[in-house]
Amino acid sequence: MASHIVGYPRMGPKRELKFALESFWDGKSSAEDLEKVAAGLRASIWKQMSDVGIKYIPSNTFSYYDQVLDTTAMLGAVPPRYSWTGGEIGFSTFFSMARGNASVPAMEMTKWFDTNYHFIVPELGPDVNFSYASHKAVNEYKEAKAQGVDTVPVLVGPVSYLLLSKPAKGVEKTFHLLSLLDKILPIYKEVIAELKAAGASWIQFDEPTLVMDLESHQLEAFTKAYADLQSALSGVEVLVETYFADIPAAAFKTLTSLSGVSGFGFDLVRGTQTLDLIKGGFPTGKYLFAGVVDGRNIWANDLDASLSTLQSLESIVGKDKLVVSTSCSLLHTAVDLVNEPKLDQEIKSWLAFAAQKVVEVNALAKALTGHKDEAYFSANATAQASRKSSPRVNNEAVQKAAAALKGSDHRRATDVSSRLDAQQKKLNLPILPTTTIGSFPQTVELRRVRREYKAKKISEEDYDKAIKEEINKVVKLQEELDIDVLVHGEPERNDMVEYFGEQLSGFAFTANGWVQSYGSRCVKPPIIYGDVSRPNPMTVYWSSAAQSMTKRPMKGMLTGPVTILNWSFVRNDQPRSETCYQIALAIKDEVEDLEKAGITVIQIDEAALREGLPLRKSEHAFYLDWAVHSFRITNVGVQDTTQIHTHMCYSNFNDIIQSIINMDADVITIENSRSDEKLLSVFREGVKYGAGIGPGVYDIHSPRIPSTDEIADRINKMLAVLETNILWVNPDCGLKTRKYGEVKPALENMVSAAKILRTKLGSA
Ligand code: GLN
Ligand code: ZN
Repeated sequence: MASHIVGYPRMGPKRELKFALESFWDGKSSAEDLEKVAAGLRASIWKQMSDVGIKYIPSNTFSYYDQVLDTTAMLGAVPPRYSWTGGEIGFSTFFSMARGNASVPAMEMTKWFDTNYHFIVPELGPDVNFSYASHKAVNEYKEAKAQGVDTVPVLVGPVSYLLLSKPAKGVEKTFHLLSLLDKILPIYKEVIAELKAAGASWIQFDEPTLVMDLESHQLEAFTKAYADLQSALSGVEVLVETYFADIPAAAFKTLTSLSGVSGFGFDLVRGTQTLDLIKGGFPTGKYLFAGVVDGRNIWANDLDASLSTLQSLESIVGKDKLVVSTSCSLLHTAVDLVNEPKLDQEIKSWLAFAAQKVVEVNALAKALTGHKDEAYFSANATAQASRKSSPRVNNEAVQKAAAALKGSDHRRATDVSSRLDAQQKKLNLPILPTTTIGSFPQTVELRRVRREYKAKKISEEDYDKAIKEEINKVVKLQEELDIDVLVHGEPERNDMVEYFGEQLSGFAFTANGWVQSYGSRCVKPPIIYGDVSRPNPMTVYWSSAAQSMTKRPMKGMLTGPVTILNWSFVRNDQPRSETCYQIALAIKDEVEDLEKAGITVIQIDEAALREGLPLRKSEHAFYLDWAVHSFRITNVGVQDTTQIHTHMCYSNFNDIIQSIINMDADVITIENSRSDEKLLSVFREGVKYGAGIGPGVYDIHSPRIPSTDEIADRINKMLAVLETNILWVNPDCGLKTRKYGEVKPALENMVSAAKILRTKLGSA
């Protein structure tokens, strides 16, 4: 019985790679320094896995930026704007593609399936001259071998690579990307030949697109590609790995019929129906790589349950053909629990990060061969039992309240247009009211104050004073700028999820539980381990203080339940929807307390609502239903005169616009200008939107200051498709990452543009 790991985090247990990369990019260290750190990380990962006893240890899952970009480099598919002239692709070309350089922008980045990892999208077309231009896969295989570790080199599979790419600029949008298979397969064959020559006995091709809703011609591309590679692959065992969801029956059939492939990998954590497909028929003599250890979460495996799943598979595929594996690459989980000395011991016993998951995989494989580590299994069973029954996990009142919400509907009693009328009587806003999204620049000084307060280096009093001064400064600035609906600037918040998680029960925080988001950027998601409740008001103090500083309406600022859920490591012992409902109830309490404190406009950010959309279309409706319901629960209890805003950071809306309308917010502010005003096309196509809406009038991701004319132009474009009386004027997103030198003139121009148009519309 063997063990296998699909892939491993690259950043290092303390984000060593991040710091090495950033120092290199800043010109503070040399390429050799960077390579040394990277080689050290790879060596320690290989050693760790081989010490544990893993049989199939991956190589080439390391990357200086992204594995899809590595593949682009391998294929020599460098877009012409980077002026690459051939030869082995080095750091300069590689990082220019990843991050842009002084003269050319970076390649586009997009989400890797439904993870929070982002990959660099290949730009392809009929004129790309593919050539073997990065020997990274072979070099890493040899590097491990020199250290005495015979690894399984991992390549992004050729079909998934093409399915994840986009037509380059100037290439027809309808260009058939899969037509490039014939051009890239010869390069794959060169790589395979070199890997074989170097001694590789297995090669892993990651083809995660197989779990998506593919059309039959796309499935045929797999058959064609692997048939074409078959002779090149003779003499080596081939694993085709899938992950992230159930595999559809048609894809399962295609996959398991591929010629020249010896093993298939499946995500059996998310793929519960996949298990049935396997039980319904698995090709004899082939290896099954059974992904039973979750690569997407931080929970310790339920080893007894996994063992019984594996035993049932053993009888189908045969003892020597079953390989215990992870559900996907461990890239999507935190690195090592060893670096969490401050984490509560009981909670810690429930967790497993990447390093611990490697041990779990191996222990399961050993148990199957009759070498069960009884002490290890029984400690695991004890931890599982304590997690189930712990009073810190279970809060009966919360469970009951959340359960009562399911299947029912919650909606404000009055329809949105009557509510808007009632609110307008109270707020008395001009047409095209101006506002911002919430945060104002977070200065070095502000970060220092928060850090020192947290470390108890400054007193509660001093902290309070510093934050109030900051709020006052932001309020005065907005009054000077003559903005209509103000914000307090969020100076007390480090992060829009962490701030709430820290005040809710059921959340834990790690010191080093980082997960790569893109390039050198990592996120540290909170861990939701128990039933969520709100012991005390979370924002009322600061919002009331801010409101007392001005006569203008001050927005109360909250993060919505769906966003808190989607940006955390969530419980795996109950459905996501249930956890979401619990958070919704906590936010509901907060909304009502804000209202009681005299806050009349409350914004509930749902920045990550779209991100949580399941991979498969058949699951969209169910997700959107409970997600939107959760949002409505938060504000179902307010009066008609209380205005509920929401905010979203993307405008890729066309497919979910009905759900957005169904959220029934009074006003929505949305990112718009960064994505070429794609959003407006929804309304051009005739979707009726009756609530207030503020498509962003300028991009806050760039330091550029937009002119009044430019902003007025944008607003005019919006007025062409939206009613005058529902349009709001605001930036794309929060101003947290900008400097005051940029924010002041940009907002000044925004307000001028709104005023010019008000005058025009008033006299028309
Ligand atoms: N209110 C938050 C802010 O302005 C919203 C951030 C976001 O949408 N990501 O910072
Ligand atoms: Zn935003």
